[in-house]
Order: sequence, then structure tokens, then C-alpha cells
Amino acid sequence: MTSSEELHKRRGAAVARGVGSTISSYVDHAGGGTITDVEGRQWIDFAAGIAVANVGNSARRVVEAVKAQVERFTHTCFMVAPYESYVAVCEQLNAITPGDFEKRSALFNSGAEAVENAVKIARHATGRPAVVVFDHAYHGRTNLTMALTAKNMPYKHRFGPFAGEIYRVPMSYPLRDGGLSGAEAAARAIEMVEKQVGAENVAALLIEPIQGEGGFVVPAAGFLPALREWATAAGVVFVADEIQTGFCRTGQWFACEHEEVVPDLITLAKGIAGGLPLAAVTGRAELMDAVHVGGLGGTYGGNPIACAAALASIETMRELELTCAAQRIETVMAARLRTIAERDPRIAEVRGRGAMLAVELVQPGTLVPDPAATAAISAACHAAGLLTLTCGTYGNVLRFLPPLVISDDELARGLDILDAAFG
Ligand SMILES: *Cc1c(COP(=O)(O)O)cnc(C)c1O
Repeated sequence: MTSSEELHKRRGAAVARGVGSTISSYVDHAGGGTITDVEGRQWIDFAAGIAVANVGNSARRVVEAVKAQVERFTHTCFMVAPYESYVAVCEQLNAITPGDFEKRSALFNSGAEAVENAVKIARHATGRPAVVVFDHAYHGRTNLTMALTAKNMPYKHRFGPFAGEIYRVPMSYPLRDGGLSGAEAAARAIEMVEKQVGAENVAALLIEPIQGEGGFVVPAAGFLPALREWATAAGVVFVADEIQTGFCRTGQWFACEHEEVVPDLITLAKGIAGGLPLAAVTGRAELMDAVHVGGLGGTYGGNPIACAAALASIETMRELELTCAAQRIETVMAARLRTIAERDPRIAEVRGRGAMLAVELVQPGTLVPDPAATAAISAACHAAGLLTLTCGTYGNVLRFLPPLVISDDELARGLDILDAAFG
């Protein structure tokens, strides 16, 4: 078999430099909570392909559903010749997302595409132009979603000009906003929108209920409900970007449910289809159906193989009760992270929900971010056989996103490696 070193050389000569990788080993196979490279080296997986492989990356039902669908047909394009699985995925999404009103869904290929379409739908339905987003937000890498994303490097740097009518307001970030309550942080954001944009110009307020790439920032209690209340009163479409937080990741089907917030539209991707590329916008029927026939779509959106995988993934989440699995992971992992934090003053905070946990690293006794220590600890994990990711506006957050099907033993071994990496 070709070695990782050889593959890395070939990659350098064939793959654009702008596409990076966390590790330089090449995958041979993966499943459950581990990834094995072409040399036979094994990693405990605390990344799940960035919160995608919630059911694992070789879930039995998903593999079988994909095989069966490939045998039947690979593509007809739903906009040309429709098929049942697309409809069935929409039915499932309408049923499992928060809100007991009439809903509709539309399927796309990537998270960024879902976010773009949510903005299209909100603008069309309201006739208003502006979109409100938050500090530290991440919504994708396409032109509109780059504008929605906060962080310049690496996502936006020299890729402008960006789309207009995007307005950024402060997030609730308890560690870094002086301990504002959720209500106070929401009032600060709302005042900025009302004074600088005007509520009547705002089509959508777009927010990750727990920020992903921005640093696993969990807003103070009451922040999301206050924004939800304001959006209702102002006729603004409340869009929850649950692309990273969705599908049992945080211990609920969707992170909004922790505070009983019901969005008007939800964007979905990542965990939706056990690793196959699929994304969706789900929401209020009157908003979704406001758009003219032919106004939404795309060649591959709701590809039948991806739809088969999504149905099998959702079934697996129900069968294995993966919301409970995420809660169990939180119990074990959070306790261990707190133990590490007690002895290591570089850890300013342990935060997150369910199997979406993180630690933020600073120079001891200050809030000065320490991205160097974060990178060093992450590298030590990789060298010792644990795949971890970093995130955050300041690059100083170590985040943990294990597959929800990780075994107790794999989880414990991963945490041992992490513990040792902190020294
Ligand atoms: C990953 C992510 C996106 C973009 O999804 P892609 O499939 O990479 O386009 C958007 N929003 C959030 C919250 C994400 O985590």
C-alpha cells in the first residue's frame, strides 16, 4: 500500500495548497470511534469529521441503505424526475425539528448552501434586505456565507469583495463579555440593530445556538429566548444555524431545545446523513412556500444516495438513542476536563453541551488567548493517537466532537491521551 509520506508528496503536486488537513496521515478505514491510517496506525476520533459522523462513519444501516440505493439509481435530479426518499427526508426533518406548526423542507448539498438558501427564503418572504449575524459566527465559505462569517483568517482573507446588507452585532460570550446576563447581552445586540439597521429592514437574524468554529461559545441563559422574542415582535425571521449542533450532538435533537427556542427556519447539514453530503432548510410552511416554483433547488440537492443515508442515520439516532449517548459522553468528558482544568491554569473555561465540549486556553491569570499552547497540546494529542480539533476567533480553543457511538473504552482512552498531553 502507498505510504502516507508518499501520498503527501503526491498531494503536494496535485492538490491545491489552499485545502489544508489537520493530520498528514492518510486514512485507510474508519468506524465507531477510531480512524486507521494506511500504515495501520489508529487514532481515537474526537473530531467525527467535524461533527458529521454522529452515527459513526460506517454505521451498519447507513452502509446498507447506501448500497441498496446505488443499485437502484444514483441520480435523476429531484427537479427533473422526483423520488420518494427526498420526500421522506423532508417529512422526517419537519417532524423532528422544534415547532409544532406546519413545516416544509428543501434539500441542498452543503451547509453553506443551506445558509444561503435560508437567507434567500427569508428575504423573499419578508421583502426586506438586511441580515443580522453575530461576532465569532461561522456560516460557511461561499461568497454570501463568507460575509456572514466573522473571522478573516483563513476564511475571508483576500477573498472579497463580500455581499452587502450583512450587519454584525455582539454575541453573548460569558467568559469575555464581563459576565453580561443573557438578557443584557441580547438588549445590547438588539439596540445596535434598531439604531444602526432598523428592525423593519431586517429579513433575518441568523445565529448558531452554540457557536462552532467561533469557539464553542455557549451564550448566557436567556440570550436566545430574548432574541427569539424580539424577532417575533419585529417580524424578523429567526434562523437557527444548527449545522454543527444538530442531530443529537448536544444531547438534544437540536441545540435550540435546551432553552425551548423555536426557530422560524433551521439550517441543517453535517450530522444529517452519516457522512454523505446533504443539507437542508426546514421551517414554517408560510415562509418556505412563499418562494415561487423553481426558485429553490440545485442539480445534486437531495441526491438519492444522500437521502437514503439520511433516513438510515435518523433511524440509527432513534434506535441507539443518541441524544442520551451525547449526554453520557458529556458526563464522562466534562468531569475529566474539569479535573484537568483544576490543575492547569491555562484553562480559562470548560464549556459546551453534550458531545460538543471545549476548553479555552489563556495565559494564566489573564484572558489573553494562548493559541500556541492550544496548537502544541493538539499536536501532542495527534502524536499520541488522538484526533482533536482547534477553533475559536483567537485559535485558542480545543474542541471535542467524538462520534456519538464511541465506546466507553475508546472515550476513556482518548481522555487519557488528552490528560497526558496537558502534561
Ligand atoms: C460547517 C458549518 C457550516 C458550513 O457547512 P459546509 O457544509 O462546510 O458548507 C455552516 N454553519 C455552521 C454552524 C457550520 O458548523
